[in-house]
Amino acid sequence: MNKNTYNPYENMLAVLDEAASRLGLKEADYITLRYPEREMIVSIPVRMDNGEMKVFEGYRVQHNSARGPYKGGIRFHQNSDLDEVKALAAWMSFKCAIVNIPYGGAKGGIKVDPSKLSRDELIRLTRRYTTRILPIIGPDQDIPAPDVNTNGEVMGWIMDTYSMLKGHCVPGVVTGKPIAIGGALGRSEATGRGVMLNTCNILKVLGRDIKNTSVVVQGMGNVGSIAASLCAQAGMKILGVSDVSGGIYSENGLNIPEILAYLKEKRGNVLADYQALGITHISNSQLLELKCDILIPAALENQINKDNAHNIQASIIVEGANGPTSIEADEILQKKGITVVPDILANAGGVIVSYFEWVQNIQSVSWSEEHVNAQLKEILDTAFFDLWNLAQEKQVPLRTGAYLIAVKRVVEAKKLRGIWP
Ligand code: NAD
Repeated sequence: MNKNTYNPYENMLAVLDEAASRLGLKEADYITLRYPEREMIVSIPVRMDNGEMKVFEGYRVQHNSARGPYKGGIRFHQNSDLDEVKALAAWMSFKCAIVNIPYGGAKGGIKVDPSKLSRDELIRLTRRYTTRILPIIGPDQDIPAPDVNTNGEVMGWIMDTYSMLKGHCVPGVVTGKPIAIGGALGRSEATGRGVMLNTCNILKVLGRDIKNTSVVVQGMGNVGSIAASLCAQAGMKILGVSDVSGGIYSENGLNIPEILAYLKEKRGNVLADYQALGITHISNSQLLELKCDILIPAALENQINKDNAHNIQASIIVEGANGPTSIEADEILQKKGITVVPDILANAGGVIVSYFEWVQNIQSVSWSEEHVNAQLKEILDTAFFDLWNLAQEKQVPLRTGAYLIAVKRVVEAKKLRGIWP
């Protein structure tokens, strides 16, 4: 959608500049935040199963480390490029700041469609990428995690490659690992759980009843599937869901456990082929425009843009994805009176539990899932209600409020540390 005109990094800069101006910052106070501290582009040669050699392009961008080591996921996607990874890295700096965990922001990506690779090719790609970015990652330096089309298994390969090359086991180099090799209980559900918790909080402050709430979710991957599942468990009715193949809708509500079981059954199962009584197949654009209370975009950037924002019928948007709403769309949604819970808070559950995983790894301890979930809720509730109160006081949208808090924290850290030398 509008890939030619949409630049995620410029979107990020516009929001940052607005927050800085509202905070009364001089350019010198925040200019470093306009530039990533480090951008790395790597070439990744991979021997394919048929003996051919292919070279893929990969990235690791480290945006800011004023508040702690760099932290952020790795994405495998055919449209990944440097501007996207730069924006995603900056959003991580602000995400860690708004939920007040001691990290900076980073992100990585490989321009590749992983569905076209065999598992062995994917392993070789991941391991070679890891060796390329090895000089700039590490448990004290920069800690990757899963993102679009990567998961615990991929994190396991990264952890193993890093450990082999260092000559000893280093579990804290990545988070989102399988439990058996140092992963945290609750991590794989954490982003979706955070989306559900933020959804419940926004309903609470707006005086709405959870049980009478209808929800539509775009994206049935890690974030969307868990968000849909937990919102349904909380008593909401899930009217529509989608994946890259298209969407499904039922006015009586979808059976989420059944849909997820179908998607998990075998690699390649997609919603376009899913059949059940009472469901209608629709496109992703139709899905976003369905009449519902809550819309949760949980796929990619720029899904809600100037072309479709006028048609959005949800009254609340909870951004499970990073950057799903363009700047132009944001203005349109505001005029329509739609409340947006911004990505940097809405999907922060993942990085919060990644932080818990890292803390457990470096201390060699393990926490129960109950403890993880309770700590996650405490951090998210504090961040949500602080933001809500500030937005009410200043009469600004939640996104603006979130950046006021986040930018202030990063700028304060930078100021206290000073510029070296
Ligand atoms: P995923 O790869 O597990 O799932 C992505 C889902 O989106 C899949 O169902 C896919 O079919 C669907 N999709 C892809 N392209 C689409 C399109 N053009 N239209 C509609 N659907 C499409 O990825 P994920 O980890 O769930 O990440 C989703 C979003 O959430 C991304 O923006 C990611 O950056 C963000 N996020 C993820 C995490 C995490 O912990 N995984 C944390 C914070 C934010």
